[in-house]
Amino acid sequence: MILSKAWQGRRYAVYGLARSGLASVEALVRSGAKVACWDDRQEARNQASPFAERVDFLEHGLAGFDSLVVSPGVPLNRHPIRMAAEEAGCDIIGDVELFARARAGLPEHAVVGITGTNGKSTTTALVTHILKQAGVPASMGGNIGIPILAQDPLPEGGVYVLELSSYQIDITQTLDCDVALLLNVTPDHLDRYDGFDAYRASKERLFSMQGEKGIAIREPDGSGIDTSRWPALQGAHNAQNAVAAILAASALGLSREQIEQGLATFPGLPHRMERVAEKDGVLFVNDSKATNPASVSPALSAYDRIRWIAGGQAKSEDLDELLPHLGRVAKAYLIGEAAPLFSRLLDGHVETMVAGTLAEAVKAAAADAKAGETVLLSPACASFDQFRDFEARGDAFRAAVEAL
Ligand code: ADP
Repeated sequence: MILSKAWQGRRYAVYGLARSGLASVEALVRSGAKVACWDDRQEARNQASPFAERVDFLEHGLAGFDSLVVSPGVPLNRHPIRMAAEEAGCDIIGDVELFARARAGLPEHAVVGITGTNGKSTTTALVTHILKQAGVPASMGGNIGIPILAQDPLPEGGVYVLELSSYQIDITQTLDCDVALLLNVTPDHLDRYDGFDAYRASKERLFSMQGEKGIAIREPDGSGIDTSRWPALQGAHNAQNAVAAILAASALGLSREQIEQGLATFPGLPHRMERVAEKDGVLFVNDSKATNPASVSPALSAYDRIRWIAGGQAKSEDLDELLPHLGRVAKAYLIGEAAPLFSRLLDGHVETMVAGTLAEAVKAAAADAKAGETVLLSPACASFDQFRDFEARGDAFRAAVEAL
């Protein structure tokens, strides 16, 4: 756990007790801060440190607190907690800002901050992997994996690689990244921003927090890069992630050989074009994270001949975006609530069958597939009609493949 003298004796209100909130409470308490916390859910409140007071801030206000630590999931643009903090004159921060304030007391280190609309997790995991392969102590945190404050401090020379959503940047004020990276900005999350420019401006703040020595990488161009020799970085979208990681790793002083070695051995992230098995020359790929049509197109462009498993809870009434990408699909195996809709939408474009369940779809696709083909789960739908979340759906795919 990361502890800090910088927090000692100060008064913190922690609002939102999911994983990063719980870690913040614990780190603050153990560092000798005065901590109160709240979450609307009783079971979340029960999980927090017994040494933190429970205070319903919306009822009692925030008078007397120095800082409000909020979870990035709290929509600050329209949440009353913001008004309460402003009335009490208490600053609004997140766990990444706590980390930023603790940095002076940590062994000498570097921070890489990664933001963007798409590719953040992949690039964060990739940069961390390249560093570790090269023998550099590295850990990843922020919007990915274990909350940064719950992790042990790195030894001297270590690199913290932080995935930062725009919500997290909004509640961070002093994170001076040695390398700051903005992958791309496309319209998203517009319910929480006053239009596209405000969303972009939120991401740009990652750069304005940097000191003079900080290196800035903006919207790197992956169009000229060939990723074919890096198995977990297939697809045009991953070329941008690879270029971004190469630039970040070079900025940190790694050699070409070290970087190449990391790219070649990157295992990829689960549920994102994840190769789960190869049987009799047929490749099985889990892309369960692709929950809308736009996020399916990279996978449909990455393999030569595809047995495509799609469906679940539809998020749109059409598949227009995908129609140009169907050339490599041999047949679509449809599951869940969306099966009848997708069957109608794909009619005349590609052969389909309604398989119903994921297990049936895997069986049917595997039975049809010939060597050289790919059985791809890339559903273009949410999972909630049949699964707890996209992770459970991806795990079920893997289990069905293993059971073949
Ligand atoms: P994030 O953490 O930003 O959500 P991920 O790395 O988890 O991003 O990738 C999620 C999905 O976004 C991928 O399955 C892919 O469809 C798409 N994607 C990944 N990288 C990029 C990129 N650089 N540009 C556009 N789309 C991308």
